[in-house]
Amino acid sequence: MPNIEDRLPQNASGRFYVDNTCIDCDMCRGIAPDFFRRDDDIGQTIVVRQPVTDADIQLCMEALGSCPSESIGQMEELARSH
Ligand code: SF4
Repeated sequence: MPNIEDRLPQNASGRFYVDNTCIDCDMCRGIAPDFFRRDDDIGQTIVVRQPVTDADIQLCMEALGSCPSESIGQMEELARSH
C-alpha cells in the first residue's frame, strides 16, 4: 500500500505521488511517460507533472494499478473531487 507519510518530496504537488518504496522497475514510466519519470539523483520514480484531463488521469490510474510494489498513491481528498 502506498503511504502518504513516505511520499517522495521530489514529486510534483497534486493528486498522484510515488512513495519511497519504488523499486525503479520502469513500469509506470512506460505506461505514462509524460507523468512519471526517473529521478537519477535518488534512483526512483517521481511524478513530474500532474494529469488534468480524464484520459490522462486514467493513464495515471493504469500506472498506479500496474506498480508491482504499490508505490503510487493518490491524495484522497484530491481523488474524490474527480
Ligand atoms: S511502477 Fe512503481 S516501482 Fe516501478 S518505477 Fe513506477 S513507481 Fe517505481
